[in-house]
Amino acid sequence: MREGIREMLRKAGATVIGFASVADGLSEDIRHLSFAISIGVNGNLRESNLDHLKKLQKKTALFLRGKGYRFFCIPPDSDRINDSFASKLYPLFTHKIAATCAGIGWIGRNGLLISPTYGPRLSLATVLTDARFKTDLPIENCLCGDCMLCVDHCPSKAITGETWSRNAPYPDMIKADKCRSHKEKSRPVNGKPNCGLCINICPYGRGYIEIKSEVMEETQ
Ligand code: SF4
Ligand code: SF4
Repeated sequence: MREGIREMLRKAGATVIGFASVADGLSEDIRHLSFAISIGVNGNLRESNLDHLKKLQKKTALFLRGKGYRFFCIPPDSDRINDSFASKLYPLFTHKIAATCAGIGWIGRNGLLISPTYGPRLSLATVLTDARFKTDLPIENCLCGDCMLCVDHCPSKAITGETWSRNAPYPDMIKADKCRSHKEKSRPVNGKPNCGLCINICPYGRGYIEIKSEVMEETQ
């Protein structure tokens, strides 16, 4: 079944797919859905990727339903949705933590999921299920190594340089208030606050996206 889901999602345009056992990270009321399918598409969570991820989740859900399994789709943008079960769940169990469990990447010093191939340039969604899979090997530690590029170049000094590991999953990596205030002051893109230098500067996966050189010049 795992390979059936993988093949279906690949054909539908998923960039990465991983399978994880996540019972330890779930609250009591959904712990019966103890396996996660982590799905990533290349690029940021702009509208087209959001819609694409939701379609991929729907395909996965239909596949699981057809086999008689239960499932719960955590929306890709659940951190932005208020007053829903998923948004309450999200702070406890984020898509990026699911992706680390599924071996897709690690949490980098910039606080984002870093894939060895795509860097911090994946948008993620998660489907929880009671189907049981052979799981992928989780990534347990930050693999940024000696790199400090995002720390050194963050224009607001919001990135502390702390590193993530499974044993310390929420270190004080990003001073969110500093980041937010810098983005508000920066030149808006499409009318929205903008920076993104900690994505653009990351050496992992740089071949997979056009580097926004004007943003880098502006903020360095
Ligand atoms: S978005 Fe900009 S200000 Fe915020 S952490 Fe990244 S580099 Fe720093
Ligand atoms: S820029 Fe370097 S330190 Fe920052 S997330 Fe990427 S690899 Fe890690």
